[in-house]
Amino acid sequence: MDFKWSPDQISLREEAAAVATDAVQRFGRHNVTWMNGYSKEFSQELAERGWIGMIWPKEFGGGGRPPIDRLIVGEEMIKAGAPIAASWFGDRQMGPALIQYGTKEQQEQFLPDILAGKSTWCIGMSEPNSGSDLASLKTSARDDGDEWVINGQKIWTSFGAHADYCYLICRTNSEGPPHAGISEIIVPMNTPGIEIRPITDMTTNRHFCEVFFTDARVPKANLVGREGGAFGQTMRQLEHERGGIDRLMSNYAQFKHAMSLADTSKSTVRQEIAKLETGYRIGRILVIREVLRQAPAGFSAATKCFCTEHQQKVDEFVYRMMGASGALWDDMVQGLVYGPGYTIMGGTSNVMRNILGERVLGLPKL
Ligand SMILES: Cc1cc2nc3c(=O)[nH]c(=O)nc-3n(C[C@H](O)[C@H](O)[C@H](O)COP(=O)(O)OP(=O)(O)OC[C@H]3O[C@@H](n4cnc5c(N)ncnc54)[C@H](O)[C@@H]3O)c2cc1C
Repeated sequence: MDFKWSPDQISLREEAAAVATDAVQRFGRHNVTWMNGYSKEFSQELAERGWIGMIWPKEFGGGGRPPIDRLIVGEEMIKAGAPIAASWFGDRQMGPALIQYGTKEQQEQFLPDILAGKSTWCIGMSEPNSGSDLASLKTSARDDGDEWVINGQKIWTSFGAHADYCYLICRTNSEGPPHAGISEIIVPMNTPGIEIRPITDMTTNRHFCEVFFTDARVPKANLVGREGGAFGQTMRQLEHERGGIDRLMSNYAQFKHAMSLADTSKSTVRQEIAKLETGYRIGRILVIREVLRQAPAGFSAATKCFCTEHQQKVDEFVYRMMGASGALWDDMVQGLVYGPGYTIMGGTSNVMRNILGERVLGLPKL
């Protein structure tokens, strides 16, 4: 078996690195992870290259390319800090969800604009009292003739203030087991009855939003998949979300910066670098296994844990190498302050370990 990259993959990586470098020069570098580099203009450039939906099936307008190609492009973009956030949710999650669960009409209505880098999406899952325990969510959609009437509140909705659509997870039935009454509904963000309040996080970024719904009405046809089927659908979508290369490479720019400062004449520093480099290699193997669908079902929880905890070890190393300058507020430090978020977004490490123990290893539930 040959583990080398093929010549085509090597040239794709070189092309992606060049595009990412150019984007950074034009739009600025976003050290505070890929989540904050948001440019609709760059999304459309990615689309023109066929780099949005590049692995979606061709019959849905995608590129039909091997999953490893998306990993290569994504890795180069994230490593460089290119502004990919405006297309990332649609490409990674909403498009594949609509391909798997959407109606033909929904696919025709929403997929072309995602592919063209024109529409932007946010994910309305977490609520003030409902994060890890998704089944406890309360935002409701009431069936009213041809429409859903939505009431409730979401929080931590990344890019809620910029998004054209919210992929909303909400309760359509409060009888029976809690997880069985949850559905997925596409909500245009310009619907009357929606109020968006951006939150300033401790890095001073403002991508998080609170989103309030008061009698917001959307067409019945915006339900995605089965009514009450969101729990299973969402878990499958999170599986894609958790095992990606974005979980490993978010702070690679900081790592490179620390390497330029590191005193490698010290054996302890050399050992630390060797440990982190080993972590990157293990993480990449885990991610590649996910991307190639070779990992056991549910294992993306372990991949996410390993990779995001690795990123936090990288942050600690960067702080140490920066010495006193780590106490000053600049781009680099702003990126480091983002660190605790890695093991929270997309499901916390504690919850990932529960999934791993109970669902993958079959350990008894306490
Ligand atoms: C950068 C970032 C971006 C995000 N973007 C979005 C977004 O776009 N849309 C969205 O909907 N949400 C988003 N989130 C929110 C994220 O999904 C939630 O923060 C996460 O699911 C945890 O929920 P919580 O904050 O309510 O914490 P809780 O669920 O209240 O957890 C609090 C603590 O309790 C622990 N805990 C909870 N349950 C268990 C358990 N059963 N066993 C052991 N420990 C447990 C957790 O590990 C954690 O330490 C984002 C978060 C971050 C950090």
